[in-house]
Amino acid sequence: MFIRLKQAAAPEVDLRTTYDAVVVGSGAAGGMAAHVLTSHGMNVLMLEAGKKLDINSELKSMEWPYDHPRRGQMAPSNHALSFNEYTIRQPPYAVGSRYKHVYSYVQGWGGSDYSKNIVVDEKDHPYSGTKYAWVRARLLGGKTNIWGRLALRLSDYDFKAKTHDGYGEDWPISYADIAPYYDKVDLYLGISGVKENLPHLPDSLFQRPNKLTAAEVTLRSSLRKMDRVLTPYRAGVTTDGLKHNKYRSKCFGRGACGRRAGGCDIHAAFDSPTGLIYPALDTGHLTLRTNATAREVLVDPKTGKARGVAFVDTETGRSYEALATVVVVAASTLESARLLLLSKSTTHPNGIGNSSGHVGHNFCEHVMGPGVTGLVKDRIGQARTLDDGRPGGFYVPRFRNLKEKNRNFLRGYGFEGSAGTTIFPEHAMETRGFGADFKKSVRDRAGAYISMGGFGEVLPRFENHIDLDPKLKDRWGIPTLRFHYKFGDNEKKMCEDMANAAQEMFEAAGFEILDVSRTMLTEGWSIHELGTARMGSNPKTSVLNQFQQSHDVKNLFVVDGSSHVSASCQNPTWTIMALAWRSCDYLASEFKKGNL
Ligand SMILES: Cc1cc2nc3c(=O)[nH]c(=O)nc-3n(C[C@H](O)[C@H](O)[C@H](O)COP(=O)(O)OP(=O)(O)OC[C@H]3O[C@@H](n4cnc5c(N)ncnc54)[C@H](O)[C@@H]3O)c2cc1C
Ligand code: SF4
Repeated sequence: MFIRLKQAAAPEVDLRTTYDAVVVGSGAAGGMAAHVLTSHGMNVLMLEAGKKLDINSELKSMEWPYDHPRRGQMAPSNHALSFNEYTIRQPPYAVGSRYKHVYSYVQGWGGSDYSKNIVVDEKDHPYSGTKYAWVRARLLGGKTNIWGRLALRLSDYDFKAKTHDGYGEDWPISYADIAPYYDKVDLYLGISGVKENLPHLPDSLFQRPNKLTAAEVTLRSSLRKMDRVLTPYRAGVTTDGLKHNKYRSKCFGRGACGRRAGGCDIHAAFDSPTGLIYPALDTGHLTLRTNATAREVLVDPKTGKARGVAFVDTETGRSYEALATVVVVAASTLESARLLLLSKSTTHPNGIGNSSGHVGHNFCEHVMGPGVTGLVKDRIGQARTLDDGRPGGFYVPRFRNLKEKNRNFLRGYGFEGSAGTTIFPEHAMETRGFGADFKKSVRDRAGAYISMGGFGEVLPRFENHIDLDPKLKDRWGIPTLRFHYKFGDNEKKMCEDMANAAQEMFEAAGFEILDVSRTMLTEGWSIHELGTARMGSNPKTSVLNQFQQSHDVKNLFVVDGSSHVSASCQNPTWTIMALAWRSCDYLASEFKKGNL
C-alpha cells in the first residue's frame, strides 16, 4: 500500500527578516533553486503567485471516466480556446466571452475537468499583440503538475549550434559543463529510458524503461534501416523508486497517464512540490509564501543592487515587500521577462538587468503541427493490451542537419508518438456504421492505430519579442505582456519536411496512412517558451552570464528557460533544472564568499 505523507509545516513568512535569497516561482526552475540553495544551508523565501492545491484530489489519476459526471469533460459554463479562435482572433482572447471561465487550449483535451483549477483563467490573465497560444499554470509547482514528462538532454549540436551552422549565438557553456548536473538531476528525480549512444541526444542515467508496444517495435526496426532511431519515451518518472524521497512512489504502470492534461497522484512522475519543494521544506531552511504575485524586483538606489521583491497578495490584493540578499527569478520564461521589465527604477530605467535592451527578445520555442496517423493492419482484431498506464510512448530523435546539411532549412526536429490500446478506443468517433458491426469495428481496431507529431526548433530572432502593454492590466492591476512574435520561413520549410518525413517513415514500416497533418499550429502551442533573457559572454548582446547571473546586477539570477540561447528541438525542462542546479551551486559559493 502507498502511504501519502504530509510535508513539514512551513514557517510563516517574516517580512522584517532579510532572507539569504528570495526565489520567485515554484515550478521546475524555482523548485530546483529552493532545493539547491537550502541544501547549501541558505535561508530561502519562495514567493509563488498561485495557491497550494490538494493536488492528489485534483488529479484523481485512478478515476474511471464513468465515475465523473461528464466523463472528465468541463462544465458547459467553461470554455477552452480552440485552434480557430487562436488563429482567427487576436489576443486578448477572453475579452467579451460569454463563458464564465476561459482557459487555454490544453483544457480542451479529454479529461480536462481535472486541470480546471491548475491552468489559469484567461479572463484574469489577459495578454495582447500577435497570436499566441499561451499556456500557464499558477499554483504551487506551476506547469510541472501537468507536464508531459518527456525529459531530454541537449548536446553540443545545440550548445554550439552557431559553430555548427553559422546561425545565431553559441551558448556560453558546452555539454561537458552541464553533463554532471544532468546526472545529478537524473539521480535526484529519476528518469526512465534506454541508452542509444547518440551524440545529438545524450543518454541519461536511466531507470527501468517503459515497454514499447508491438506496433512501436515494428516502427523501431523499420527506422533502423533508415539510420534513424525510435526510443522508448524518456520520461521524467521514477520507475525504480527513489529511496531518498519519501513523497514519491515508483511508477506502478497504473493511472490515467494518457489523460491530458494529466498528472500523477502518487508522484512517480516528477512534479516540483514533491520532487523538490517538500524535501527543501524539510531542511528547515525554506519559507513558502503562496498567493504572492511578485510585481517588482526592488533596488537599493545607492548600490543598484536588488534588495528584495514587492508582491501582491493574490487573494486580498494587498501589497508587501520581502527582503533578501539575493533575488532568484524563476517565474517561467515569459513571466520572468515580464517581472524584469516591470522593475524599472532610476538605476535601471529599461527594467532591471536590461542595459543590453535584450530582455524580452530572442524569444524562441518549438513549432508543432505536422504529423502522421497510421493503421497497423496486423494489430487489427488482436487481444487488447493495457497501454494507458505508461508515462509515454516513443520518441524519434532529430535526424536532420547532423551529418549532412539540408538545403531548405537549419536545425532539426524530433517526433513524439504512441501506439496501443487506450481507455477510450481511439478513432471511435470517426468510425463509420452503427449497431453490432460498428462496435466490433471499434473494438477490433482500438489497439491498431499509431501516430506521431513533430517538435521543431524555432530559430531565435531579435525581432521576435515581448514587451509590456502600455494599457492592458491583469486582474491585480499589473501591466501585461504584448507579443511581437511570428514563425518565419525556416519554420515553415522545416514543417513541410516534417510532414513528408513522417509519412515516409510510416510508409516504410508498412502502416496504412490514414492522415498526414501539414498544418502548423499557432505560435505557443508547444508550451516550450524560451530565451527572453539569454545567457552570453557579451553584456551588450546578452542579459545573463553562464551562471544565469545578471551582467548588470550581481545579486540577481534568472534561472529558468528565459536564459536559453536557442531552443534546440528537445523538450527543455530537464535542461532548465540542470542549469538551475549549476547556477545555484555557483550562487551559494559566491554568497558564502560574500561576493553577492
Ligand atoms: C501540458 C504540458 C505538457 C508539457 N510537456 C512537457 C514535456 O513533455 N517535456 C518538457 O520538457 N516540458 C514539458 N512542458 C513544459 C514544462 O512544464 C515547463 O518547461 C516547466 O514547467 C518550466 O518550468 P518553470 O519553472 O520555468 O515554469 P513553471 O513550471 O510554469 O513555473 C513557474 C511558476 O512561477 C509562478 N509565477 C509566475 N509569475 C509569478 C510572479 N509574478 N510571482 C510569483 N510567482 C509567479 C507560476 O505560478 C508558476 O507556479 C509541458 C507543459 C505543459 C503545460
Ligand atoms: S503510469 Fe506511472 S507515472 Fe503514470 S500516472 Fe500511473 S504511476 Fe503515475
